[in-house]
Amino acid sequence: MINQYPFTLMPLPYKQDALSPHLNPATVEVHYCKLHQAYVDKLNQTLSPYPAYHNWSLEKLIIHTRALPAEIRTPVARYAGGVYNHNLYWQNICPKGKPLHDGTFSKALNYYFGSFCAFQTLLIETALGTFGSGWAWLMCDNNGRLQVLSTPNQDTPLAQLNTPLLVVDIWEHSYFLQYQEKRKDYLENWWSLVNWPKVDAYYQYCRRTKERTRF
Ligand code: MN
Repeated sequence: MINQYPFTLMPLPYKQDALSPHLNPATVEVHYCKLHQAYVDKLNQTLSPYPAYHNWSLEKLIIHTRALPAEIRTPVARYAGGVYNHNLYWQNICPKGKPLHDGTFSKALNYYFGSFCAFQTLLIETALGTFGSGWAWLMCDNNGRLQVLSTPNQDTPLAQLNTPLLVVDIWEHSYFLQYQEKRKDYLENWWSLVNWPKVDAYYQYCRRTKERTRF
């Protein structure tokens, strides 16, 4: 997949019905085929008249939004963020989920949050406490520290050069068809889908790159 204009919808790394029963096929279809695709399309439409930016990666568009012409800064931030956040969301999960193994990442979770359980509680509380639409994140900040936070709309910690490791979509569209207003039930079932070795790999990559930039 080429990471520049025209952007394409990332392939799902599993079948659309494979996340059942935690996310049913109708929910995944609307979310991935319609809404995620719409962010890709709107990003391409916005960039289409601006060939100077057609070789910019998704990450560059998010990090350097202020270098863009004023009239497209807001739509690019929204749509590029929407594509990036959804890409990570689908990559963070997999059918039946995969467990976290002992190692530097599990030690870091214990170090920063007290325990794995305390981390999970904090992420759920952060997600439930978010007013309106947004995302709840585990991220690695510029100093290599782990943090949990939420962002509104399609904002992403990457814009401040922090490295997202794990994200859960808390827009109603991500759960309403199946869970209606029960955001907490959605979040608790979402844990069962998390692909922890993948999140661990993002953490390891983040540590390596931050160590490189430190010297
Ligand atoms: Mn979404």
